[in-house]
Amino acid sequence: MIHIQTPMLHSALLSAQVGTNIWLKMDALQPTASFKARGVGHACTKYVEEGATLLVSSSGGNAGLAVAYSSRQLGVPATIMVPKVTPQRAIDLMRAEGATVQIEGESWLEAHTEALKLAESPEAAYIHPFDDPYVWEGHSTLADEFVASGVPFDGVILSVGGGGMLTGVVMGLKRHGLDVPVLTMETKGADSFYTAVTTNEHITLPEITSIANTLGAKQVAAKAFALRNEHPIFSDVITDKTAVDACARFLDDHRLLVEPACGATLLAVYGKNSFLEGKKNVIVIVCGGAGITKETLEGFLQMEA
Ligand SMILES: *Cc1c(COP(=O)(O)O)cnc(C)c1O
Repeated sequence: MIHIQTPMLHSALLSAQVGTNIWLKMDALQPTASFKARGVGHACTKYVEEGATLLVSSSGGNAGLAVAYSSRQLGVPATIMVPKVTPQRAIDLMRAEGATVQIEGESWLEAHTEALKLAESPEAAYIHPFDDPYVWEGHSTLADEFVASGVPFDGVILSVGGGGMLTGVVMGLKRHGLDVPVLTMETKGADSFYTAVTTNEHITLPEITSIANTLGAKQVAAKAFALRNEHPIFSDVITDKTAVDACARFLDDHRLLVEPACGATLLAVYGKNSFLEGKKNVIVIVCGGAGITKETLEGFLQMEA
């Protein structure tokens, strides 16, 4: 297993603020600093079992880092193709895991196209960041751990980028026969799920304008979109500024630094989202993210409202 079982902590501080028990599912503690270790780790494991001897990714973010980490754990090489604009720190983190990081083209699409070409060889496997049943299966272990905790939870809050985590969690809940409602959080400018759900169309955003680049999938997975009719899912969208403020508050309250992608979920608590009303025990997935430093947080905090 690539991922670890993470603690689920009762936050006395946040619970008192909102009058609902808040349980923090601490996936920021995963070896790659995000829940991606679950789904991506599982997908890499499966593809290697099926004979892959090279793992390929085009993500310069948490998914790429999880592929790099998984490859080292599995003893199989990984090649991550990223565009020129990728921050040096992200490249360094992946190289530290022993991955080959290749700079390809100006935009993500160019890097992605090259990665797909490389993955065409029969011994290679391309690891999609969110749209792969193996990835969902791996993320569904979150729900297994919710159930194993024994907490009688009546709500789950999580962030949505391409909807891989949402799909995995809902699949896991269903497997346990649970129809516990889920609140999805996104930032404005990366709100592909919110827009799809509210217009009832599987839309593609023209561009990503949010700083929460980890949530920046222009279109969510078709499976994630279909879930709106299969499970009680509530969807909300907030601003970058409030997501960043939530990161800063969480750093003070729980001494953990997370990406704005995760701050979006935390804001559902700090902003007393109406989803909390009437609920007794709500699980908040602290999805984490490696793409933040003290310096970048400080920069984000200078942002105008
Ligand atoms: C990938 C990621 C998300 C979004 O997950 P999806 O499966 O793409 O919806 C949210 N937060 C963090 C920290 C991530 O790495």
